[in-house]
Amino acid sequence: MNFYNQRTVEFAKVLKGKNLYPFFRSISGSEATSVQLNGKDMVMIGSNNYLGLTHHPHVIEQTIKAVEKYGTGCTGSRFLNGSLDLHAELEYRMAKYLNQEAALCFSTGMQTNLGSISALCGPRDLILGDSENHASIIDGTRLSFASVIKYRHSDMENLEELLVTNRNKYKNIFIITDGVFSMTGSLAPLPKIVELAEKYGAYIYLDDAHGIGVMGELGRGTMNHFQVEDKMTAIMGTFSKSFASIGGVLSGSEEVINYVKHTARSFMFSASMPPSAAATVIGCLDVIESSPEIFETLWDNVTYMRRGLQELGFFTYGSQTPIIPVLVGDDTRAMQVAMELHERGVFATPVISPAVPKDEALIRTSYMATHTRDELDRVLEVFAEIKKKIEFPKTH
Ligand code: PMP
Repeated sequence: MNFYNQRTVEFAKVLKGKNLYPFFRSISGSEATSVQLNGKDMVMIGSNNYLGLTHHPHVIEQTIKAVEKYGTGCTGSRFLNGSLDLHAELEYRMAKYLNQEAALCFSTGMQTNLGSISALCGPRDLILGDSENHASIIDGTRLSFASVIKYRHSDMENLEELLVTNRNKYKNIFIITDGVFSMTGSLAPLPKIVELAEKYGAYIYLDDAHGIGVMGELGRGTMNHFQVEDKMTAIMGTFSKSFASIGGVLSGSEEVINYVKHTARSFMFSASMPPSAAATVIGCLDVIESSPEIFETLWDNVTYMRRGLQELGFFTYGSQTPIIPVLVGDDTRAMQVAMELHERGVFATPVISPAVPKDEALIRTSYMATHTRDELDRVLEVFAEIKKKIEFPKTH
């Protein structure tokens, strides 16, 4: 067979042959910060479970209660037979949490972007997207039939040039960006984006998958961190990270949310979030609102690891979030580092092109509020050992 992307499969085969294939590793048990693989305990620094809530007793209790009350699935779309009072409660709580008028829950974050972007943007519109936006945004823009131009990553001069050149050519212009970039953990320059959007009359669609539940007061997101919550046309979030579950949310004005609710195909033509998932997210909101100290623990751990990795001489892109990348450079070398980590009981994932620019392969590490100091010290010890064997670039 010779499919379009056959080279990817060939590359995977080569890596497997060299025992350098760190993907699809099967986890047989988990306590969030540590997982078991083939009977071996490993420290997990490769997840998005920033608050460690997947194993919180209150969250687990709420999830079990929901299964007992509603069963295991909704077997239909929200539009038809799949709307529960739990979904309505979740949307009400999410809108309040994000300081927005309304919210709409989808079954995954990916579906949120596919459905919302393709509903909001149309063939006579222009989308200006950051060059490092997540794949689900890119696919959403493709489904919209809008014109799409990428601006250089976080380059506000480039964004302004594109706004100036294109401002009278389209019905609407949408600026779409991640709030926290998922691979490098860097923040989008939201205040400047807001200034440009206001100057040139553009809308802002923010994907804050890695910001909601992490950044700002009580994790209200990157827009809260920068105090621009009221300037976003639509804010997307996911429940597959800090909210310990699966599902996604779009939040904004009543008008925008009602429009997306009646027009987003991935919302209308796909089954709704299962009751267990909706209850998990509500349980997480309970914990966040009643135990704000969870964020102090998170940021203590993040600061500790950022400093620790920098002191060891790794280049970490000046990350300001729980995602701390370790630059490796070469794709194959990144696999090698991931396997060296694996052998020493640390689970982290390599990120290679096209997810990052060529020759900027990295190990994406991320930290949880629930990591213990012993676990974090072990991770630093392992990185120090590997650095003696493998050369890492000091900058990019
Ligand atoms: N947006 C961003 C920035 C993401 O990182 C992800 C998931 N990695 C998504 C959207 C999709 O979310 P989900 O996994 O919930 O489908």
